[in-house]
Amino acid sequence: MQIMREPQELQAWALEQRAAGQIIGLVPTMGNLHAGHMSLVTQARTQAHKVVVSIFVNPTQFGANEDLDHYPRSEREDLAQCRASGVDVVYLPAASAMYAPDYSCYIDEMVLSQGLCGASRAGHFRGVCTVVAKLFNLALPHLAIFGQKDFQQAAVIKRMIRDLNFPVRLLLAPIVREANGLAMSSRNLYLDQALRAQALGLYRTLRRAQELFQSGVEQSTQILPHLAEVLTRHELRCDYIELVEADSLLPVARVTDETVLLVAAWCGSTRLIDNCLLGEPI
Ligand code: AMP
Repeated sequence: MQIMREPQELQAWALEQRAAGQIIGLVPTMGNLHAGHMSLVTQARTQAHKVVVSIFVNPTQFGANEDLDHYPRSEREDLAQCRASGVDVVYLPAASAMYAPDYSCYIDEMVLSQGLCGASRAGHFRGVCTVVAKLFNLALPHLAIFGQKDFQQAAVIKRMIRDLNFPVRLLLAPIVREANGLAMSSRNLYLDQALRAQALGLYRTLRRAQELFQSGVEQSTQILPHLAEVLTRHELRCDYIELVEADSLLPVARVTDETVLLVAAWCGSTRLIDNCLLGEPI
């Protein structure tokens, strides 16, 4: 496994691989790798000859009051997991290698990134699109694997790929959960035992929505109040709960199998997200 820290090194490697006819799969991450991340690697390995994992806590996607300085970092353990999973290249740049001091180019997706997480995290998706575009230009992947865990992020990146003509195929990997249903997340490290119990409320809103849908309730206005109640019962402070159409992310009045439930809530001082398709039992 090669460890690269310089953008030029990764790009030169990717050009060589492409010239040799190798299919490159990219898994972008912010590190502190868990089984959710590794499932993306596994999926990449089934479809690509060479797998690149990037580990970069991207400063441009963090707001001024967010956890950039405290975001969990575990380089040694991350590298060990990548090595054990047959990753070919780990790209671990310093922030200064990605952003020159006078850096001045950004990518703004203007529609899908406005609501949901975009509404409470100003500039977040601008940072995400910018860094993903840069990673595409460096790793030159044929495929990029993103997790359904960040559903809006995947929708925004899919739109960026389409609108800016990146020759990259996006694959969406299912959410990996702990045995009790909590979606795996690097930010779960911030939760003590009491908060972890509260955090289960997110998963329970998904289950409740699926139950209501299975029992024939189809109006969003008849579903959403029950979900808000579940969050309150778990002492979670709701950021948003929305039932949306998967591509446009627009709220729907009447739900179907393909409707996506997106939830974000504060668990103590940690903001957690989760989601599901109503017709895909979790
Ligand atoms: P992050 O390191 O949080 O930026 O996540 C990197 C990638 O891993 C993103 O595409 C996430 O959607 C994905 N991911 C994070 N958590 C999970 C999970 N529990 N299951 C599947 N994919 C995940």
